[in-house]
Amino acid sequence: HAFDDQECDYLFKAVLIGDSGVGKSNLLSRFAKDEFRLDSKPTIGVEFAYRNIKVGDKLIKAQIWDTAGQERFRAITSSYYRGALGALLVYDITRRSTYENIRNWLRELREFGNEDVVVVLVGNKSDLGSLNSRQVNEEEGKAFAETEGLCFMETSALQNLNVEEAFLHMITKIHHVTT
Ligand code: GDP
Ligand code: MG
Repeated sequence: HAFDDQECDYLFKAVLIGDSGVGKSNLLSRFAKDEFRLDSKPTIGVEFAYRNIKVGDKLIKAQIWDTAGQERFRAITSSYYRGALGALLVYDITRRSTYENIRNWLRELREFGNEDVVVVLVGNKSDLGSLNSRQVNEEEGKAFAETEGLCFMETSALQNLNVEEAFLHMITKIHHVTT
């Protein structure tokens, strides 16, 4: 692959969180698909992908962790969050329960994660928003994000809408925080 650790200026970890089935793995594979390395770690149930991004004149290597299905069993351990500087907190706009669970994810993230972890709240599956299947309005996501001080975006992993933007938003904001 094009870069190794020695060539990048910053290396940081970010995590994907949110209920099972909201689209975390598809968001990650969309984002990582160009320059990507997917390391499967079936024994600990975590996968991660790398993506190198240029911000200004610096090369940033983002290591993004996916839960690999462990969220189903509430088996995510503190090591998953440890050292993460960013998080994409994902819900499914067609499943209200996944939106209502955001508070719990946020609580866990703040308990186990870095104190000033950068969080982007993501309402995924926006491609289904024009049908009757939407259960969470965009305004609700926006309002919740505002009260919690998070960034917010609706995405579609299926149609590749806003996926790049959501990750890049998190990554450039982390870069801001860490420099
Ligand atoms: P995860 O459990 O959070 O990792 O979710 P997955 O990435 O495995 O996706 C769960 C299901 O939702 C799969 O059937 C995906 O095809 C579907 N899915 C994921 N993202 C989207 C999206 O943006 N739009 C639609 N319509 N379906 C999606
Ligand atoms: Mg998954």
